Amino acid sequence: MTNPRYCGRFAPSPTGPLHFGSLVTALASFLEARSQGGQWLIRIEDLDPLREPPEATGQILASLDAHGLFPDEPVRFQSRRHDAYHAAINQLLEQGDAYRCSCSRKELQANWGRHPRHCRKDNAATGDRPFAIRFALKDEDCHWQDLLLGPQHQTVQAELDDPVILRKEGFYAYQLAVVVDDIDQDITDVVRGSDLLDMTAQQQQIYRALGSRPPHWLHIPVIVNDQGQKLSKQTHAPALDDSIPGKNLFAALVALRQDPPQTLVSAPVETLLDWGQANWQRGVIT
Ligand code: GLU
Repeated sequence: MTNPRYCGRFAPSPTGPLHFGSLVTALASFLEARSQGGQWLIRIEDLDPLREPPEATGQILASLDAHGLFPDEPVRFQSRRHDAYHAAINQLLEQGDAYRCSCSRKELQANWGRHPRHCRKDNAATGDRPFAIRFALKDEDCHWQDLLLGPQHQTVQAELDDPVILRKEGFYAYQLAVVVDDIDQDITDVVRGSDLLDMTAQQQQIYRALGSRPPHWLHIPVIVNDQGQKLSKQTHAPALDDSIPGKNLFAALVALRQDPPQTLVSAPVETLLDWGQANWQRGVIT
């Protein structure tokens, strides 16, 4: 049965090939969507060409394909969505929810995060200095419910925490683009790594400023290496071996504490995904 009210997604930034940690996240969002009869999409968050090797996107998509993780719609690329981000920034600037800021990181640090140039008040006064655009947060004690972690509380501090939404180099920033696209794609449920938990309160304010209701969030624990570091390009996580997708999926189900039976250890991809969907229990993830 399909559930038109559920739409999930996997949204990797293509900084390198898929590693085991990203497979676990992709699988969790896929199974959560499928077990509810929902839709599942893939979005490549390719906003920063300086950090993204050109081959990474193709590698990630080939890996997802090899693991049977097929989206319900064509893959979306954020690099083709600049007009939408531009429009959102103009809207936020017009509403007074964003401002130009020419302060350097050093200047901000030296001033305890307060803007020495009073950027929020003096919006256009950037002179010849290159400027970023920041979202103007409101002071807030933000309470929300994570579908796995339960009640969450974050304190948001206006000015101190204001995220950059357009970088000085002219690149649109993650914090803005992720919200614009989740709204545009009608994403109802976001399953992602708990390294992004801290972003959630800020993102809720961006949703509201853009006139939309935030989705449900479910943050899963990040996979760490032997040294306790998050698997990532920076910690030299090895690329997934796409020639053994069944083995990888079995290990990912184990990492998600789904307790797959040993009889499936050499099962094909389709069997593992069917088992995962039929037996999915988000509550046991730790
Ligand atoms: N693109 C982000 C990343 O790879 C994830 C975005 C999200 O799930 O909110 O870290």
